[in-house]
Amino acid sequence: MEFISEELADYIGDHTSTHSEHLAALEKETWQKILIPRMLSGHVQGKFLSFISAMIRPKRILEIGTYTGYSAICLAEGLPEGGEIDTLEINDELSWIQDKYWKLTGVKDKINRHIGPALETLKHLNHTYDLIFIDADKENLKNYYLKVKPMLANGGVILIDNVLWSGKVVEPIDAKDKDTKSILELNSYIQQDSDVENLLLGIRDGIMMVRKI
Ligand code: SAH
Ligand code: CA
Repeated sequence: MEFISEELADYIGDHTSTHSEHLAALEKETWQKILIPRMLSGHVQGKFLSFISAMIRPKRILEIGTYTGYSAICLAEGLPEGGEIDTLEINDELSWIQDKYWKLTGVKDKINRHIGPALETLKHLNHTYDLIFIDADKENLKNYYLKVKPMLANGGVILIDNVLWSGKVVEPIDAKDKDTKSILELNSYIQQDSDVENLLLGIRDGIMMVRKI
């Protein structure tokens, strides 16, 4: 389900700074060669990620769910000198396209790619993060949230993608639909979590913003 008309979506795109040639090429190549290309953040959401990153100026970023590396490039735009990203991905068949565009955009040296199930990788990471972007499998959403919350620096922000799940969060739920259940559970957990302040933004498929209070 699209939340806004195509016309309005185009208008929003037309009034959001354009993405770089390299990002446009990465989007195109993802659509040509990779399965489920609609998972890529894309122009408007990518600009949102780079905007947030530029405002926070995070020394260290954690990303769960790299895919073809588009969002990592956007997040890297706000890194100060010496800043780094840890990005977690289960699929090792995407590394070639990530490498290609991370080199082209000059961010390769700032990105640490960790291949494997994210929950496993997270056990071995003991950094503090100023910005965390959760965008992998939905089944483990709450596990990711609970695991990364203590890793968030004071003043840091967690962003969680796809929290509206094409509108399924307000539709009658199919008993077999684990992903929607998992998203509903996380959204209400966060809403009741007195440690944080949260804002659900209607950008694209919904982004939950969370900060510690
Ligand atoms: N952040 C990307 C899109 C991520 S799509 C962007 O905005 O462009 C979700 C990714 O999560 C996929 O590449 C998928 O392979 C990965 N993924 C799924 N399950 C995972 C797991 N258990 N651990 C790590 N990554 C996982
Ligand atoms: Ca996503």
